[in-house]
Amino acid sequence: MRVEYREEPCKTALSRSPSGRFGFAWSLNPYTGCAHRCTFCYVRGFERRADRPSGEAYGTSIWVKTNVVAVLRRELGRASWKREVVAIGTATDPYQPAEGRYRLTRGCIEALGAAPTPFNLITRGPLIVRDIDVLAAAAARAEVSVSVSIGTLDRDAWRTTEPATAPPHQRLRAVRALVDAGIRCGVSIAPILPGLTDAPAQLEAVVRAARDAGATHLWCAPLNLRPGTREHFLEQLARDWPEQLPRYAALYERPYLAPGDAAPMFDAVQALRDAVGIADRRERPIVPAPAPRQLTLFG
Ligand code: SF4
Repeated sequence: MRVEYREEPCKTALSRSPSGRFGFAWSLNPYTGCAHRCTFCYVRGFERRADRPSGEAYGTSIWVKTNVVAVLRRELGRASWKREVVAIGTATDPYQPAEGRYRLTRGCIEALGAAPTPFNLITRGPLIVRDIDVLAAAAARAEVSVSVSIGTLDRDAWRTTEPATAPPHQRLRAVRALVDAGIRCGVSIAPILPGLTDAPAQLEAVVRAARDAGATHLWCAPLNLRPGTREHFLEQLARDWPEQLPRYAALYERPYLAPGDAAPMFDAVQALRDAVGIADRRERPIVPAPAPRQLTLFG
């Protein structure tokens, strides 16, 4: 599918996170839209509300925030900047193909490291290994945590639901490279798709592969189907797995799984994480240098 790239300067780089309940105060997205075009992507809903290509056309128009690094440096340089946690990639993949050319995510990491400001980054793009140098430099000055999303190792489910992402084994190699470089890097099993990727053997395969790649942490999230994503995902499901439709109709009367349906997934992943032994085993972890101590005039 043809993707149009539009260079579009931004006015602000950081967006305030409404509640801070996900563990970050600000989000940062160097691009608008994502050429990976996953069928389950919740960004479809945002794009529809913004009157941008959504549904089947989602990911065919990428806005490249060409000045995002300069704007970010300005925002981080304000006297009022409190160095709260920034999340990179909440509404785009910061390592989608455009990053190979524009290097905006790389520039943002350099700016955050210089500030220094703690940040989390989430991606499905193995291109992240290109930026190990700047990630390591930033991690030496502030807390840095990376999550590489791997929803499944099931080839059919991956290919069908993620038409343009790199194969999971390439992402696992990226996890290994980051961890070996001393960077905190884990795996997010997200989203877990009921009936398609939630079988015990499928979950165990991902957790074991994450452990073997050295993942420092692991978390999971079940599929959500908010308006804008729901219509597209269910259309694709009807095409690829029509036998699953009644199950999804029952599970997703609302955008989120009922607690009773989600709990078994969380419990299964938690049990696997403990059994398999996911832990921070970095041989040479990079940790931020302690902040210089203020000299006191009075003893
Ligand atoms: S990689 Fe992430 S942001 Fe991009 S389409 Fe897939 S889920 Fe959406």
